[in-house]
Order: sequence, then structure tokens, then C-alpha cells
Amino acid sequence: MQVPMYNHTARFAALQNDLEAALRRVLLSGKPDWGPEVPALEAEFAKWVGIAHAVGCNSGTAALRLALLALGIGAGDEVITAPNTDAGTVSAIHHVGAKPVFVDVEPDTLNLDPKGLSEAITPRTKAIMVVHLYGHPANMLPIEAFARQRGLFLIEDACLALGASVRGRPVGLWGDIACFSFASTKHLGGFGSGGICVTKDPELYERLLGYVGYGQPRARVYDPKASGQDLHYVGVNERLDELQAAMLRVQLPYLQSWIQARQQHAAAYTQALAQTSFEPPAVRQGYVHTFRNYVMQTDNRDQVQQRLAQAGVATTLAYVPPIHLQPAYAFLHLPKGSFPVTERSAQRLLCLPVSPQLSVEQRNYVIEQLLAIGGQA
Ligand SMILES: *Cc1c(COP(=O)(O)O)cnc(C)c1O
Repeated sequence: MQVPMYNHTARFAALQNDLEAALRRVLLSGKPDWGPEVPALEAEFAKWVGIAHAVGCNSGTAALRLALLALGIGAGDEVITAPNTDAGTVSAIHHVGAKPVFVDVEPDTLNLDPKGLSEAITPRTKAIMVVHLYGHPANMLPIEAFARQRGLFLIEDACLALGASVRGRPVGLWGDIACFSFASTKHLGGFGSGGICVTKDPELYERLLGYVGYGQPRARVYDPKASGQDLHYVGVNERLDELQAAMLRVQLPYLQSWIQARQQHAAAYTQALAQTSFEPPAVRQGYVHTFRNYVMQTDNRDQVQQRLAQAGVATTLAYVPPIHLQPAYAFLHLPKGSFPVTERSAQRLLCLPVSPQLSVEQRNYVIEQLLAIGGQA
């Protein structure tokens, strides 16, 4: 049996008629741009998350950059984040001219350790960009309290955690702005690239809208009678595409069931791992984990990965090496040993297939292989 990490063909095939109808609707509308699909998706997504406003854009990386722009963060500022994250988290900070400052993570959830915040803060610190790694929310109560006490903005990089929550409060509702990705492999994946920012603040909403589309208020684009070319912001053009928005709208009604499928796969893996030497991922009391990644840990990671590959089971490593050890970030001068918890996990972690398209037969096959390798690897 072959078990891939993802199966986009199956995801498409399951909704093929509706996806094709959505594409046709856009292509025949005469509005390939500035049409109704993006605002409709924004409204539907905001409602799903339970927040007032959403602004679509063309990637999760773009969403993070837009959040920083809308909050006025730029040259000379510092933004605190975790080193075990996607390239986009840190490049977004760098490309607005700010400096990323890393804080090591908690050993159980591998999320930003609030205990490291007071050492990382300087007079230049403007924001915490907290990452909810793998779908398990970060330790938000102390992180939020710290941000409010110190007058820092709080941005959630929620690209891996759509649908997750802490004590009943969803991811996306903790920060001044939260960012999600519609990359194909995320909880709500497009067929291509996309992203979205959410906020409850009407002023930040206006600023996000302003920055995403050239720096013009979007209302003017929709109103042909509106006059003037005045630019209110030094904007970017990182808008979400009508075609992508239309395809995301088709999929959004299935999101909750897809998250449940991930959680069921995860529960089965965790139960099976109890009979092995492998460590299952932690789920803290009061937290809802939505498992964009199912990440086990073992000292024999490379061997286990190789044996699974020989059995036809695909696995991945996320995020290895961590950002501070990547060649692109050598200029930060953060040598090996700077973030021991992150670095240890990077040696030990392994992501198993957990997508909603994974069948129960495939999952059981993965479990059989893990049990076969587990005691002896
Ligand atoms: C995927 C991801 C991003 C970037 O999103 P893209 O849509 O791929 O640009 C940023 N941060 C995290 C934590 C992610 O998982």
C-alpha cells in the first residue's frame, strides 16, 4: 500500500461538480478581478471563525506581512516569534524592515514559551507574532496578558490552527490580527495559493483592506462614481484571486467535518503509539488541537522515517532545520545551541499522514507499520 501525505486529486474529485461550476461562474461573470467572490468568502470565513472582519490575500505569508503593515510595524522595530515555524512567519517580519527575535518553545506542545518573553523584550519590541504550531494553540493566557501589560500588539500566525481553541475561545480571536493560509495542504486549502487576515477592530479592517489592494480603499473600486486616485497607504497588490475564492467557498461547508476526520486519525495514532516507544503529540487540557500535522517524536527519527518510506508511507519534517539555523538567516548570528528545546525537537520529530483524504484503511496500515517498527527501531 502507498500512503501519501496529501491527496489533492481526491479532494478535487469529491467536490468536482461544485468546483467546476464555481470556476465557470467566475469565468463567465466578466469579473475576473474585483468581483463578488472575494468579499463573499471574507464574510463567510469571518462568520465561520466567529469574528467581525476578514480580508483575503494571496498567501499566509502575505497575510502576516499585511498584519504587520496594518499595525504600522517596520524599520527599527522588533517582533518576537518562535524559531520553529514556517519560512513565511519570519520573512514577513524581515520584509517590513523589522527584526525577528526568537523565543524558545515549551517542550510538550513546541509552542512559544511565555517564560522567555521578558528576556526577549526590548524598547524596540512592537509585537508578538505567536504561532499555533501544528494545530495546537500556543499558551495564550500568559502570552495575551504579557502583550497587554507591555503594550505590545499580538498577531496570531494561525496558518496551522484553523478551528483550534483555548478554553472555548477560538484561535483568531486572541490577537489584534490573526492570519490564516489557504495553501493546498492547510485545513482549508485552495488549489494554489491564498490567505486571509481576521480582526475584530474596524479600523484595522480598513487598514488591511487599504494595504492589500494597491493602497486604495476597496470601496472606491466597487463604486464607479467615486472620484479621485488618492492613495491612502503605500499598499501592495497581494489580493486573493476570484477563482481561488470561489473554490474556497465551495469547500468551506466541509471544513468542520474535515477537521473531525483529522482529529479521528490523530486519536487512533495516539492510542496506537501507547504500545510503542514513540511519543505522541501532547494535547493540553482545555485546548482543541486541529492537527494540521500529527507530530510524533523519537530518538531514532531518521531510521523510523526510512523504514516507513520502505513500507510506502510518506512522512515529512516540519520545520527542520529551524529558522535560526537556515542559511538565509545566518545574518542573525544565532548559532546552534541558541534554542535547545526547538533544536532537540527538530532532531526527533516526524509528521505522519493525517489529511482528511487519508482513508481508515491507510491509517490502519500506517499504524501496523508503526507497531512493527516501534519496539525495535
Ligand atoms: C503555511 C504557513 C505560513 C505561510 O502560508 P503560505 O500560504 O504558504 O504563504 C506561515 N506560517 C505558518 C505557521 C504556516 O504554516
